[in-house]
Amino acid sequence: MPDLNKVDPSIDLTSAHEHQDFSVLSKVAVAIMVIGFLILSIAVFGPGAKYPKLFLFSSFGAIAFGSLAYTFLTYFLSPSGVKNNHITTSALTAHGWLAWIMAVGLTGFYVIHYWWSHLFENWYRMMDPLSFYVRGKQTEDWIFYGVLYTFGVLIMGIRAIVKYRHSRYQIIRTCMVIFSQFFLAWLIPSLLVYFKEPEAYVNYFWPLSFKDGFPLHFQSLLQEPSIMAKFLIFWSLGLTFIGTPILTYYFGKRWYCSWVCGCGGLANTVGDPFRQNSSKKLISWKIERWMINSVLIFIVVSTGYIWYVAATAGTLKINPADHYLTKSYGFLIGMVFSGVVGTGFYPILGTRVWCRFGCPQAAILGFIQRFFSRFRITTNGGQCISCGNCSKYCEMGIDVRSYAERGANIVRASCVGCGMCATVCPRGVLNLENGPREGRINKPVSLSDIINFEEDK
Ligand code: SF4
Ligand code: SF4
Repeated sequence: MPDLNKVDPSIDLTSAHEHQDFSVLSKVAVAIMVIGFLILSIAVFGPGAKYPKLFLFSSFGAIAFGSLAYTFLTYFLSPSGVKNNHITTSALTAHGWLAWIMAVGLTGFYVIHYWWSHLFENWYRMMDPLSFYVRGKQTEDWIFYGVLYTFGVLIMGIRAIVKYRHSRYQIIRTCMVIFSQFFLAWLIPSLLVYFKEPEAYVNYFWPLSFKDGFPLHFQSLLQEPSIMAKFLIFWSLGLTFIGTPILTYYFGKRWYCSWVCGCGGLANTVGDPFRQNSSKKLISWKIERWMINSVLIFIVVSTGYIWYVAATAGTLKINPADHYLTKSYGFLIGMVFSGVVGTGFYPILGTRVWCRFGCPQAAILGFIQRFFSRFRITTNGGQCISCGNCSKYCEMGIDVRSYAERGANIVRASCVGCGMCATVCPRGVLNLENGPREGRINKPVSLSDIINFEEDK
């Protein structure tokens, strides 16, 4: 029998349940996690370089153990799905002081890493045992960042699988995200270095990896004697010009943005607690379209210009335009936009700032999705109770409810097909589908249509 005197803070629409109190054990799990971060912090002041294995395994081990224990106690032992409890009042999830501390901390870490990476030298030396094992050489600055990134996606990916375990789509998608980050973005590039092949992140290609479209990239790969170098040219060009249009035609942009891309992978795992913070304002939608298309135009024009300079000079070798554009793009778009604002401000601006406002890959995929794809989200308007869960948890800031209430299909360039709107809907209103293009954009049903229909009967 439920204890009627006990206050249950749950305001879940999906699953009213008795509040289970694991607060003591959960606090122990959080404490272990914090100890892990403390060990990691101490390591950067010197001990990490002196006792690399001890600090590497104790810090990452404690963080992993504490996080997974917390996941088990908090998510596995309670009903799956989103919990709306405290989401609009918590200091972490509702722009409170904890969110700001986290944003400043993440941003500060990224800025130091970019400009003053020598300050993290002891962390790089701490990582050497792993780096020698997988890459056959000592750690460089961005390799350390890559390990943290992959570790975050792995741990928080497990959390996402447990939290959304009622949804087969979310389980399979998150497994794919982890696979993509672990194998395509970390292990394969590391092994390429180990076997003295050109280093390549095989899940990135032009225009997201803008340098892959520049003449110098082709020149350096063509100079390599190995078969692998030739294969990487074929792989990169194939994905840009053949894979992208075909896969987006059949599946929408989700095949890349929500299944393969590391930026999307980080947003859907590490960023999951903050996905509700994406702005749903109309002005954001307007800014989004201007910004993302401007970045795409910049990339296309600058790539074309560099090829023009290379063609007129008769060489693929580095030229001032190539050098200058690589540097400025790397700083403005790669560092400031995707790094500092895109990731550092997860707790404040939501998780897909980069994907939504800046990613040139998302712009191309979105264009194909909007005008040529078979993908759409269908809505069963008659079942919608206007709870707003779908709009709240849409990381791309789409007002899903406004479509659902009118029974209108959602065919939006920005939708990354994460499926979270369907996963959090308590009425099963939304469905992600690939189907014939005819009738994809349907006529919405207005309230007056319904009233007139009733009166005509
Ligand atoms: S509309 Fe749904 S599937 Fe598309 S981005 Fe938003 S939550 Fe994800
Ligand atoms: S579509 Fe589902 S989640 Fe969205 S408002 Fe309607 S009932 Fe709520």
